[in-house]
Amino acid sequence: MSRVLAEQVALVTGGSRGIGQAICLELARQGATVLAAARAVEKTQAWVSAAGGDLAPRVVPLALDVTDRAAVGAAVDAILEKHGRLDILVNNAGITRDGLIMSMEDDQFDQVIDTNLRAAFSTIRAVSRHMVRARHGRIINVGSVSGLMGNPGQANYSAAKAGLVGLTKSVAKELGKRGITCNVVAPGFIETDMTQDLPEKLKEQVKQVIPLQRFGRAEEVAGLVAFLAGPQAAYITGQVFVVDGGLHM
Ligand code: NAP
Repeated sequence: MSRVLAEQVALVTGGSRGIGQAICLELARQGATVLAAARAVEKTQAWVSAAGGDLAPRVVPLALDVTDRAAVGAAVDAILEKHGRLDILVNNAGITRDGLIMSMEDDQFDQVIDTNLRAAFSTIRAVSRHMVRARHGRIINVGSVSGLMGNPGQANYSAAKAGLVGLTKSVAKELGKRGITCNVVAPGFIETDMTQDLPEKLKEQVKQVIPLQRFGRAEEVAGLVAFLAGPQAAYITGQVFVVDGGLHM
């Protein structure tokens, strides 16, 4: 593995498990120092210790609730003070609170928007000043095919993920002249905690309509995120990349 991200510093939100964990590992494998942010920092510590080897020292668990605006600003300041740079931001933290529109509570809607969309704005705003000054930055927002197709029971989640697309394109247009790229990676059904509780019957039905006939693995999302963070993606911005086994086309 070439260490194309050597010397670089990355902040990955939702790094305690699932897709975020795989992204942290891949960025670290490519040489970056990775701040893996999540609320359950002990979970992150556990997988980092298990990863061991030369990867463990390059992944730093960070306790952070991305919906806490002040904490996001403080965390970014602390990273810059300690490491002196922040090259890559991956907004991956996400939650679902599914429900049908007629019975969806305001709170259910607000929490999902807060975690999946507004927090991405907070982190982008927090890193932007530094990235503008450095004239370099890679921002990758983890969306979802639900944000492109809509999904019954996910009005809140689909709205948040669709919002990420607009946010991404605005960031790409506003900050492109400063050497900053911003893209969306939109997964379909990936095997993580988020999908494991779906009813077996539904999982089987979904697999039937996925051309590749299976759910994806977190590593299959992480590879693309790492590519977009690397030097070969320098001329790619404002785009949405779907990783879904062909579900949405
Ligand atoms: P997951 O296994 O449930 O992990 C979610 C991650 O987000 C955890 O690390 C969680 O950590 C973190 N998180 C949630 N709320 C947070 C908060 N307030 N502050 C900080 N971290 C928070 O989910 P996943 O499947 O890996 O999903 C990762 C991303 O991919 C999400 O944006 C999700 O919407 C998107 N996605 C997933 C799928 C899929 O099929 N799995 C499909 C499309 C898109 P803590 O709980 O420890 O804070």
